[in-house]
Amino acid sequence: MKKISISISDMHCASCAQKIESAIKKLGGITDVSVNFATEKATVNFDEKMVNEYRIKQVIEELGYKVSESDTDKQEEIRTLRNLFLFSLILTLPIFIIAMPFEWLGIDVPYKNYILLVLTTPVQFIVGYRFYKGTYSSLKAKTASMDTLIAVGTSAAYFYSLFAVIFSDILGSGVYFEITAIIITFIILGKWMEMLTKGKASESIKKLMGLQPKTAIVIRNKKEIEIPIEKVNVGDIILIKPGQKIPVDGIIVDGFSSVDESMITGESIPVEKKKGDVVIGATVNKHGSFKFRASKIGKDTTLNQIIKLVEDAQTSKAPIQRLADKISSYFVPAVILIAIASFLIWYFVIGQSFVFSLIISVAVLIIACPCALGLATPTAIMVGTGKGAENGILIKGAEALENAHKITTIVFDKTGTLTKGEPSVTDIIKLDEISEKEILKYAAMVEKGSEHPLADAVLSAAKKEKIKIPEPSGFQAMPGYGVVADYQAKKILFGNRNLMKKYKIKTSGFEKNITDLENQGKTVMILAVNKKPAGLIAAADTIKEFSEEAIRLLHKMNKEVIMLTGDNERTALAIAKKLDIDKVIAGVRPDHKEKVISDLQKQGKVVAMVGDGINDAPALARADIGIAIGAGTDIALETGQIILVKNDLRDVVTSIDLSNYTMKKIKQNLFWSFFYNAVSIPVAAGVLYPFTGFLLSPIIASLAMAFSSVSVISNSLLMKRYKAK
Ligand code: ADP
Ligand code: MG
Repeated sequence: MKKISISISDMHCASCAQKIESAIKKLGGITDVSVNFATEKATVNFDEKMVNEYRIKQVIEELGYKVSESDTDKQEEIRTLRNLFLFSLILTLPIFIIAMPFEWLGIDVPYKNYILLVLTTPVQFIVGYRFYKGTYSSLKAKTASMDTLIAVGTSAAYFYSLFAVIFSDILGSGVYFEITAIIITFIILGKWMEMLTKGKASESIKKLMGLQPKTAIVIRNKKEIEIPIEKVNVGDIILIKPGQKIPVDGIIVDGFSSVDESMITGESIPVEKKKGDVVIGATVNKHGSFKFRASKIGKDTTLNQIIKLVEDAQTSKAPIQRLADKISSYFVPAVILIAIASFLIWYFVIGQSFVFSLIISVAVLIIACPCALGLATPTAIMVGTGKGAENGILIKGAEALENAHKITTIVFDKTGTLTKGEPSVTDIIKLDEISEKEILKYAAMVEKGSEHPLADAVLSAAKKEKIKIPEPSGFQAMPGYGVVADYQAKKILFGNRNLMKKYKIKTSGFEKNITDLENQGKTVMILAVNKKPAGLIAAADTIKEFSEEAIRLLHKMNKEVIMLTGDNERTALAIAKKLDIDKVIAGVRPDHKEKVISDLQKQGKVVAMVGDGINDAPALARADIGIAIGAGTDIALETGQIILVKNDLRDVVTSIDLSNYTMKKIKQNLFWSFFYNAVSIPVAAGVLYPFTGFLLSPIIASLAMAFSSVSVISNSLLMKRYKAK
């Protein structure tokens, strides 16, 4: 399986995107394909054994589109459109003056029709070449597109006028060159504006890219040389001076410093770094200086993975867009039928002139381009995901952005999510003749091999007491229970009640001690030496700064808030009470968290799970939306559909709010484009004419068409003003 992303230029409208999509789908071995008109990108998942990248690109080019290699192609396309527009405008201005003001004022231009013919022909065929080309390639694929509508509409006006010039004795001297020239000029103008505004929507990616420094100082042959970061190799030793940005990911080999990693991990306090520690590219060194060995370069760096993630999200398709796509695929053929029907009705049934009927069908063809419909969703998704990225919320795909607004229930993991995940030892209680210090020594000994936050708490308490920690044997971690090991022929157990139960050790004698501590929100661990309870160690974790506010805001949005934890119920309830959490599901073993989520889903809830990915990755994956905290770890980047860069739970609220807002914009856009077409098509077909004498000229139709696309894009761009709550 392979996933690639291909930039495509020369797409003229959403139906082009669909055309490419269905042509690629027809190749064997394609598992998923999504072509996005707004970002001009195709994302294809395919089986490398059955088809290759080259073949996929070939299909795109066979349809008449260009596979572009870089951003410069986009700039090139913008320049081409601008030049075409200016060329078209220069020819169209005299056409307009001769055909309209002069005509109304009765100013007679000699050889008027010939001059108009000469001026219009290049507009029709040079500027309008792209519409013919688009029509040809869609005919080949047995479909019709927006290009078809424009090509058929303007050709009808052009060729009628051409015949009128040649056979003026039969058709009379009325020509309609200005219609086709002005329409083409407006549409090219619209396309140019569209390209410019589309570029604006992807600014957030540029901002992310801007985080990366351009050069690095590497040490080669014992000399410091400054090289562009593209030239850095894995294994290079890179020198970092005070205040410098770290160019790529790597591991410190010499020196120490503190590093501001807030842009990647959200942690605002600078992190101390010494030999052996990992540094992340794009983070900023503070006062010290150090050397590190590059471990990840180019597209493998954390920053580039984040950029790729945001880019992929911007090109992915929201479920709601499939509906719009389906409608636009029926749209063009339907419009052609309506245009033919209007002609037939006006000419044969009502008995209007040939020219009158023709111009009406031209107006229908031009006004009904489904451009706005095609832009409604992707532009909003693009700005929405970009806005998220700017606020430290990485949304992995349009589907997540759309679905987040449907969430009814938010499940928070306790340790490391609601709390800091850095517990510290608060109480040590003696149960036997073993002293407090000995209790701590035994506990620290068994925790040595564990990576659990509680283990860190015990170990640092032991360190503070300057206890020498001996080496145990037969260490075993039991997730959700605790740890066990052997020392000097003694079996040492350290963990919760369930661990004791497993080894048939009674806890009833000191149950009161445990519950008292638990009621204070502390986690109690029991130490047993040779099956005899020896002591209790309690640890307390601090609640994160914004947890309480986040939960209050979620309640305000009428969301149900649940706490899910492996810790015991009493401790969990004590913390839940402080945070005003609706429901606590406690004592859940790590491998059962996923089941809890699916049970909630079976009750009809739409569930978001918020966790750090450490022992809740399956639950994050099971939830309708998995929200992972911290972009600095691979595990969070992989398992979350939404990744919160900052360690701030209020961003859960912002994610849902941003989703609501984006969906509102999409619905506005879709409504506006449907409404536009629903009203404009009958008006263009002349429905108002019998009652009010109002006829929509094809020129106004083309203006309205261009305006509808630009207004949809502008409405999406308004989202840039979005401020996180
Ligand atoms: P959480 O859901 O809070 O992340 P875990 O599933 O990791 O919790 O752990 C649940 C419980 O299991 C802990 O509260 C503790 O009682 C016990 N436990 C797990 N690992 C350890 C350990 N290394 N040392 C002591 N107790 C442990
Ligand atoms: Mg956890």
